[in-house]
Amino acid sequence: MTVTFPNFGPAALVLSKVLRELGVSHIAPRPNDEEALRLGIRFSPEEICIPFKYMVGNLIKAYEEGADTVLMAATSGPCRLGEYCELLKVVLDRSGYEFNWIVFETPNVIGMREFIRRIKSGFAGTEVKAHRAATSVAKGLFLTFAMDRLKGRTEALAGYITTPYKAVRLINDVEREIEDCPDLWGSLRIISKYKKVLYELKRVPKADPIRILLVGEIYTSMEREANGGIEETLMMMGCSVTKHMDMTWWIRHTAGEAVLPKALRRNDRKGIICEIGGYGKATVSEILKGKKIDGIVKIMPSGCMPEIVTKSYCEMLQEEKGYRILHLIYDEMSGNAGYETRLEAFVDMLERRRDVLAGNRHRIHKHGLCNDR
Ligand code: SF4
Repeated sequence: MTVTFPNFGPAALVLSKVLRELGVSHIAPRPNDEEALRLGIRFSPEEICIPFKYMVGNLIKAYEEGADTVLMAATSGPCRLGEYCELLKVVLDRSGYEFNWIVFETPNVIGMREFIRRIKSGFAGTEVKAHRAATSVAKGLFLTFAMDRLKGRTEALAGYITTPYKAVRLINDVEREIEDCPDLWGSLRIISKYKKVLYELKRVPKADPIRILLVGEIYTSMEREANGGIEETLMMMGCSVTKHMDMTWWIRHTAGEAVLPKALRRNDRKGIICEIGGYGKATVSEILKGKKIDGIVKIMPSGCMPEIVTKSYCEMLQEEKGYRILHLIYDEMSGNAGYETRLEAFVDMLERRRDVLAGNRHRIHKHGLCNDR
């Protein structure tokens, strides 16, 4: 048995390290690129969302390299996500790529016994003992949380650093070094090393950067290829970026759903009251938390049903409550120049608005957008 799995933010990198440590034969997915999308477009239904197409592309490439079993997490829900793996299986089977599937549904859907049975089937034919597997998974979780935390801090601090490109470079360096590192402890040491590097970067005295909240569909939020490197673009513009959805959020959310009774779940209390699928409710709830930010950038892939609903809700918030939200929809066309121009214009608008509110006439004049009368 040779397992594979599709890309899903840092999860693919961490999972391949866990499997390597346990000696499970696997093929890690290649990073998302045009070829993965091209394959996905070729074999998927035309109107389906882009994350699905990337996943089809990832799995086909892995199949061609020798993988025969797919490991995949799933969370049931009323959007396609509830039938996601089923649909992936049908599409790949019909195209001649027949895998065995091990789908990790949450225990509250399939029951704890079945959940454990599926975990065990992932290690079929290996000598891995349960305690060793549990230790490696725990280390993998630590690594995921640490990677997300470092990335989140770096993005938030980017606007306060004299040279924001160094913050962007730091994130890239960490990912590259972790990729090259053979073991999980070594990867955690890399994170500690770069934490120090981050706090040594020179800061702008009394900096007050534009603060952006980045929300939207989870896959697009986590996969650089699917969002055209939006976080890097905002950081390079000198913004302080807070991202809502990352792997840590997903793990906490999924674990909470699995074990906590409905009344005790923290998220999704505000905004849309009915279930709309995906994490659309969580997106709106995050916007309504009223964090101290200047503007919101909401991203989604074309073909995403839940985020289309949240888009309408957010438009209502813009009109009625004055929220400043930029909606970006990522489609199959390559080329980031259009997105960058819109982000630049949005950040310019937020800067100017701040100047107007602060009565900073000198800066307003500098923007060339207002006569100093
Ligand atoms: S949330 Fe959107 S992008 Fe994600 S699976 Fe559902 S429809 Fe596709």
